[in-house]
Amino acid sequence: MVWDFTAYDFLDPDLRTRMPSVNGSLHRQGELTAIAGLFQVTSCREYRIYQVRGYDLSNMTIIEHDSGLVIIDPLASYETVQAALQLFRDKTELSKEQRPVKALIYTHCHVDHFGGARGIFHELGDPLEPGVPVVAPEGFLEHAVSENIYAGPAMARRAQYMYAAQLDKGPMGQVGSGLGLTISTGEVTLIPPTVYIGGSDHQPVPKENWKSSHVIPWRPGLHVFDGFGFPLVFQLTPGTEAPTEMNIYFPDARTLCIAENATHTMHNILSLRGAQVRDAHAWSKYLTEAIQTFGKETDVLFGEEGLRAFLGGGMAAALVPLIASRDRTPMTVTVDSGGNRRTVSSVHHPCTGDVAHAAQGTWKDPARSDHPDTGKHIMRRITTVLLGVAAILGILSAPASADDAPWSRLVSVSANAAGADPWHPGAPEHNGLIVLP
Ligand SMILES: [Zn+2]
Repeated sequence: MVWDFTAYDFLDPDLRTRMPSVNGSLHRQGELTAIAGLFQVTSCREYRIYQVRGYDLSNMTIIEHDSGLVIIDPLASYETVQAALQLFRDKTELSKEQRPVKALIYTHCHVDHFGGARGIFHELGDPLEPGVPVVAPEGFLEHAVSENIYAGPAMARRAQYMYAAQLDKGPMGQVGSGLGLTISTGEVTLIPPTVYIGGSDHQPVPKENWKSSHVIPWRPGLHVFDGFGFPLVFQLTPGTEAPTEMNIYFPDARTLCIAENATHTMHNILSLRGAQVRDAHAWSKYLTEAIQTFGKETDVLFGEEGLRAFLGGGMAAALVPLIASRDRTPMTVTVDSGGNRRTVSSVHHPCTGDVAHAAQGTWKDPARSDHPDTGKHIMRRITTVLLGVAAILGILSAPASADDAPWSRLVSVSANAAGADPWHPGAPEHNGLIVLP
């Protein structure tokens, strides 16, 4: 069996405290990622953005435009993607003509974001070359091949231990993998890209060619693609969660797809399955760039894995998960973990007054004293960002108690502004759900 929706029925919130064998956070994460179905993320005059979630480890995004569908990240397996597309068609096209898939986009080179590619064109009789644009970040094919073919057998074997997809599901077996429940075990396929963002044909847009319809102000390094009847703005993020990856901004919908660069987990810097080690510094840098580039012009944020949609409230609502995600990056590297944890807890401590001073005072890592970007620099980055954003939101006054540190107030204020943070206890658990499978 490739995918079984009933396998995780045991993830009942009422039973969470009665499963001593299961970590409470993993259980909670499992409850949320088990909410499977078709979601409408947002819409604008030009198109509607849907996601099918819980049909694989990753989410599949469908842009429904009058002229057809643009699919972003066709899951991991031929079988799961067919089921996901069918769900969309069954629930949105009953009284309408079936819309053709007119383009495919891969946000990055991990198998759960391209493995189902050929299943998308099953309706057309499985053509090897479907004759539609297939858009990917530069370097996609080389990295997809090196991970999944050169290192494929070893990595597939190690992935079995990492995701435990073949174990029985249950409190004494496989519970979830944080990002999602597990990875599907169907047929992996690939349709090679025909358009490379950052390749010789799709270079960044020079300032003189920037249009007001792109909504965000021009910045160097942004790529625009106009081939679908509406503009998309791509931000390449090489060397982050994947060696080649990109975020996608939808100007008409004021919406940002953050690929897998922000999720509801600690960042997976050193993947147990043996994928290329990630550069925590580059990752945090590109998240900062995303916040600065798109933050003010973004009302909706969604991810291709784990991270669901954050709606409404404008800048504050869209920024919070991104900032939280970015500030997790330097903390996840093993060699950094102790020092950075001390750093962040000092920043949070309400009694210190001068938090920046306190944070810098606690950092010491002689093992990495030659590294140009450890110690004071990382702490400065964390404290500057934290305090800078808090000041923008006008909530950084003298904290009243240990429970009322600047960061916790920032999160709760903004979660309220968002009104729909599915990971925030007490908030609605999902938004936009149209139908369960
Ligand atoms: Zn990935």
